[in-house]
Amino acid sequence: MVKELTGSLGGSEQRLVVGDRGAARARSGHPWIYRSDIADAGGETGDVVAVFDRRGGFLGRAFYNPDSEISLRIAERRDEAINESWFRSRIEGALAYRDSLTIDGDAHRILHAEADGVPGLVVDRYGDHLVVQIGSAAVERRLGWIMDSLYELLSPAGVLLRGDSASRRREGLEMGVRVLSGEVPETVLVREGPVRYEADLWRGQKTGGFLDQRENHLAAGRYARGSVLDVFSYTGGFALHAARIAGEVEAVDSSGPALEAARHNAEINGLQNITFTRARAFDLLRERSDVGEGFETVILDPPAFAKARRDLPRARRAYKEINLRAMKLLNPGAILITCSCSYHLSRELFEETLRSAAADAGRTMRVREWRGQAADHPEVLTIPETRYLKCAVLERVP
Ligand code: SAH
Repeated sequence: MVKELTGSLGGSEQRLVVGDRGAARARSGHPWIYRSDIADAGGETGDVVAVFDRRGGFLGRAFYNPDSEISLRIAERRDEAINESWFRSRIEGALAYRDSLTIDGDAHRILHAEADGVPGLVVDRYGDHLVVQIGSAAVERRLGWIMDSLYELLSPAGVLLRGDSASRRREGLEMGVRVLSGEVPETVLVREGPVRYEADLWRGQKTGGFLDQRENHLAAGRYARGSVLDVFSYTGGFALHAARIAGEVEAVDSSGPALEAARHNAEINGLQNITFTRARAFDLLRERSDVGEGFETVILDPPAFAKARRDLPRARRAYKEINLRAMKLLNPGAILITCSCSYHLSRELFEETLRSAAADAGRTMRVREWRGQAADHPEVLTIPETRYLKCAVLERVP
């Protein structure tokens, strides 16, 4: 006998039963339930549904999309309605958490989807502007409530919807970038610690910048010294911080527009010690390490080489290759800051890959620090997917 739910909206709520595997997963604290784990479906794309196990045990309320591989995203485990005030209190909770952090800058994540209890919703702040990403049909349908809360709590100058992410395509949501409210300029000048940079909210990667690297950028502004090579530089995330304390910085990227933006950011910060090289990282690292050129600091921040689990073997070879080359480029005592944002490459596998690179490069590397994504991109213990960015700070032992 299913007990009466008090949080249902007017009794017309759809109910859905999941099989034992889905139920076990839900009870492990994970919000996702796959299509194949649904035993008895009810409801339509974009509904909030009440989810039960086979014995009628209530598992929570979830965002439903039968067209998506991840058909259910549990948003609330208690018997509470997912209404306007629910969204508001989740956003308030996310803001309270950010207030508890010392975020040195005005561009940061305000709400990190599942990790802040709202599956499929990302909200980033760039100064007075907000960028929203939605990867769930149910969230999209309730966007009006979300916007009302964001305006009441933050009164932004403008809000942009970046509807061009792969997760949207998987959910079958309309692709495109558009202003939801107010005005959103082409670029917004923001601060990250002592550095200022222009973020392209419309066309830039992610929502305009690598906010998850903010704390690692700041760390680079402490570790860097001497001649610096920043590979996969994009608009200068690491290079700008390094250039403030180091000698000469060479920023390398395969994208001309990214390097143009990096050059512009260097100007904004009055930094004249950065040069910009457009090259393919693998070629450049191979050529440089063959001649054994010496650097005091090397930074590697490649795009995710493993976008899916099946990419892992190839990705590991690629990570090993760039790290081996980078280690060969280090002078004795030099620093390597090396990152991986591939979720599928675990911290342990990344460490194993670095170990093998160090062995083959014939370098003894001391671990100075293991770092992760910035704290405004929280990790939730029961949702392993929320931990994805790894950043090792290594030192070549003289
Ligand atoms: N380090 C940056 C973010 C890097 S994003 C920051 O902290 O802000 C990854 C970058 O790698 C992108 O700018 C992309 O243009 C570049 N890239 C991708 N493949 C590349 C390749 N084979 N060679 C050089 N750059 C590459």
